Amino acid sequence: MASIHEHDRSAPASGASTRRSTPTPPELQSRSWASSRVAIAAVVIVPLIGFVAAVAFAWSRGGITLLDMVLFALFYLLTGFGITVGFHRLFTHQSFRAVPWLRATLGILGCMAVQGPVVNWVADHRKHHRFSDHEGDPHSPNLLDDHGLFGTLGGLWHAHVGWLFAAGRSEARTYAPDLLKDPVITFIDKYYGVWMLASFLLPGVLAFALTGQVAAAIGAFLFAGMARVFLLHHATWSVNSVCHTFGARAFETKDRSRNHPVVGLLGLGEGWHNNHHAFPASARHGLEKGQFDLSWEIIRLFQRLGWVHEVRLPQPERVAQARQA
Ligand SMILES: [Zn+2]
Ligand SMILES: [Zn+2]
Repeated sequence: MASIHEHDRSAPASGASTRRSTPTPPELQSRSWASSRVAIAAVVIVPLIGFVAAVAFAWSRGGITLLDMVLFALFYLLTGFGITVGFHRLFTHQSFRAVPWLRATLGILGCMAVQGPVVNWVADHRKHHRFSDHEGDPHSPNLLDDHGLFGTLGGLWHAHVGWLFAAGRSEARTYAPDLLKDPVITFIDKYYGVWMLASFLLPGVLAFALTGQVAAAIGAFLFAGMARVFLLHHATWSVNSVCHTFGARAFETKDRSRNHPVVGLLGLGEGWHNNHHAFPASARHGLEKGQFDLSWEIIRLFQRLGWVHEVRLPQPERVAQARQA
C-alpha cells in the first residue's frame, strides 16, 4: 500500500482521545444540532436559489456582462484557493508552511467559500482521512449495504450533501487540537459569519463602486456572490462523492479514492484524489504528467516569491514504486 500517513504531521495520533470535559446534556446537544441543521440547510439552499435567480436575471438581460464574468472568476479562484491551498493542503495536511499574513489570508478566503469555519472543516477532513471509506468516515459514499443502483445513489447523496446534516460531527479537540491553540485561527473561526457575509456582498459592492449602477451590483451579487458559492460548493463536495465512486485508481490505498479529471479541473487540482489519499502530506496532488493541478501551481508560485517554505513532496522513486502496474 502506498501511504505516507506516517509522515503526515497533521494526522491525529492513533487512539487519540479527547480531553475530558463536562458532557453536554443530551437535550442541549439535540437542540443545538437541530438549530445548526437549519443553518446548514440555509447555507446549502440559499446559494441554490441564488444560482436560479442568477440564471433568470441573465435571461431577462439577454446574457451576462464581462464584469460579472471577471468577478465570478476572481471570487471563484480566491475562495477556491482558500479551500484547496488553505483549508486542505495547509491547515489540514500541513503540506507546507506559510508566512503569517498569507496563512491568515488563506484562512479568511477559505471561510469565504461558505463551507463551514476552518476548525470544523479541518476536523471533518482529518477524520475522513483517518477512517477513509470505513465506519467513522463522515462522508464516505461506500458504507451502505445496498450495492444496487439505489444504494449507489444514496451513497453519492450522503457523501455529497447528506453528511452535512448527520448528528455528531467530528470533534475539534480530537482532530484539530493544533488549530484550537492558534490564536489567529481561532479569531478567524470566531468571525466566520463576517467572512461569509463579506463573500456574498463584496462582489456587488465592487461592481457598484466600479460602475455606479444598481443593476451591475445586483448582477455581480447574483453571479459572483450566490452562483459562485453554489458552484464551488458542488465542486468541493464532488471530491467527496464523485472521487470516491468514479474514475481511475493509480495507487493501491486502503480506501476507494479515485482520480477524476473533471473534478481535477473544477476543483482546482483536488480531483486527483487517489493520488492524494496515497500521499496525503504532498502539497502536489497532480503527480502524473497531464494531471493539471492549479493549486499546486499557486503553491509553487508562492514558494518562488518566498511566501511559503518547507513544501512537502513525495520522493519520485516512492511514487514510481507505489504506482500500480
Ligand atoms: Zn477522500
Ligand atoms: Zn485531504
